[in-house]
Amino acid sequence: MNPAAGPPGAPPAAFGTAATAAPGARDAAVIRLDGVSRVYLMGESQVRALDDVTLAIARGDFVAIMGPSGSGKSTLLNVLGCLDTPTSGTYRLDGEAVESLTEDQLAEVRQRKIGFVFQSYHLIGRMTAARNVELPLIFAGEETQARREKVRVALEAVGLTPRTHHRPDQLSGGERQRVGIARAMVMRPSILLADEPTGNLDTRSGDEIVALLETLNRGGLTLVLVTHDPRIAEHARRVLRMRDGSIENDTEVHP
Ligand code: ADP
Ligand code: MG
Repeated sequence: MNPAAGPPGAPPAAFGTAATAAPGARDAAVIRLDGVSRVYLMGESQVRALDDVTLAIARGDFVAIMGPSGSGKSTLLNVLGCLDTPTSGTYRLDGEAVESLTEDQLAEVRQRKIGFVFQSYHLIGRMTAARNVELPLIFAGEETQARREKVRVALEAVGLTPRTHHRPDQLSGGERQRVGIARAMVMRPSILLADEPTGNLDTRSGDEIVALLETLNRGGLTLVLVTHDPRIAEHARRVLRMRDGSIENDTEVHP
């Protein structure tokens, strides 16, 4: 057991409260897709990466997306994260139609509401863990003192305080992903989207990452996670199975 990792599950309470919705909005679906398609044009041919997807995700839910390679999982996650826009259909996020937002409003949504965690971490190699986690705060124009404190809390919450000044190449895969999660959570988003977050990790590190994500979810965070691993999907409350751009199966695991 890596001493820096801390007990999985214990620390991230620090993120808990901000992820909780306003009381009036509690029962509403935070995510609503209606007839959403995403078509890529490849020369003469079209790829329907998403094909008429209708889906509602409740606030605070934990959803796992599974399905074969090429079935549209990443495209779906990118649309949910406002990194990609549907070719047709509507996406309502917190009741607001995403397609009607201006570029500035979209940037604001990406910055404040949504956190993203990637399979290959997407950390900046020449920056320390602290600096990587600080970046979203810098982009958001936070003051230096507030940034320092938020970075400290975020790294503590993922059990990485002793690795604050390490660069990614001085960290294990599991530790890198913890930095990725701290960076995704430092703006206190209400939704966390993770695209195969354990895909590059050994079983034990993967389990620790899932335990951490579960704890964040218990604190009120809406969690949508793409995974190939049935063991990881078992932790979710709902499993969506995709095929050819459609949701072919939608199962509530712990209703
Ligand atoms: P998954 O994450 O399930 O492996 P993706 O969402 O990445 O699937 O891809 C779904 C389909 O869309 C695939 O056929 C893929 O080749 C295609 N696709 C994804 N992104 C692009 C893109 N930027 N340009 C063209 N085709 C794409
Ligand atoms: Mg993918």
